[in-house]
Formats: sequence, C-alpha cells, structure tokens
Amino acid sequence: MEEDSGADGAGPAASTDRRNPGDQARPGSKQTGMVSCPECHGSGRQANRPCPNCGGTGEVVQIVGDA
Ligand SMILES: [Zn+2]
Repeated sequence: MEEDSGADGAGPAASTDRRNPGDQARPGSKQTGMVSCPECHGSGRQANRPCPNCGGTGEVVQIVGDA
C-alpha cells in the first residue's frame, strides 16, 4: 500500500471551480441553477458552523433541465 505521486486514477482535482457536496453539477453548467441549500435552507450555516453541504454559501447548484 504505497501512495506514489503518480497522476493516475481519480485524485483530488485541484480545479478552479468550487464544488460543494450539495452541488449536482459544476457551476455554470447548462441547465443548472442556484437553489437554496436544502440542508441549511439558504442560511449557509448549520448551528455555528458553515453548512458543509453548500460550503457556507447557502446555495447549491441544481440541475434544472426539464427535457
Ligand atoms: Zn447549506
């Protein structure tokens, strides 16, 4: 079990676009829109911490395509 620094497989992609666990798609994708996070109801917070679902933004990207 050795972790070599090879760029093989699905590693953590250091991309510029931020995605949160609650996002269904990448921001800016077609047929997507920002909706209030169902976990924090748009507040961006849960208890005293930033909502992990939306990353504290209070919104998540949801696919709104109705095709
Ligand atoms: Zn949230």
